[in-house]
Amino acid sequence: MNTETCPFCRIVRGQANAAIVHRDDTVVAFRDIRPMAPTHVLVIPTMHVETLQDLQADAVGLVGRMIAVARQVAVSEGLDSGGYRLVINTGADAGQSVYHLHMHLLGGRRMNWPPG
Ligand code: 5GP
Ligand code: ZN
Repeated sequence: MNTETCPFCRIVRGQANAAIVHRDDTVVAFRDIRPMAPTHVLVIPTMHVETLQDLQADAVGLVGRMIAVARQVAVSEGLDSGGYRLVINTGADAGQSVYHLHMHLLGGRRMNWPPG
């Protein structure tokens, strides 16, 4: 997938609509189009990286920035007291369907464990 056709790069560039809840130079967060929980937000790097495994070793700090944004959004969504789940599906076995690195922030209902 290239950056021209990547649906998440299109959201970063403002070429596709999304309900954006956070934007800075390196991270964007927006509501999932098919929410699986009362709050379902995707946190992505503005840089196109296909999977967590494709992130260069010296760039893993970007995931820390994504987590920092997820924590902020959890507070603004009122999830910090009840709790929430962060998920990064990586590759086919995990069911990754969009090949632009993203973290799911899920909350507002009781989660099951283990996930399916
Ligand atoms: P994955 O299965 O790759 O971990 O998750 C991809 C997620 O992206 C899915 O939950 C799917 O609903 C969401 N998604 C796919 N395309 C779009 C889109 O164009 N806009 C938004 N907001 N979410 C999308
Ligand atoms: Zn992309």
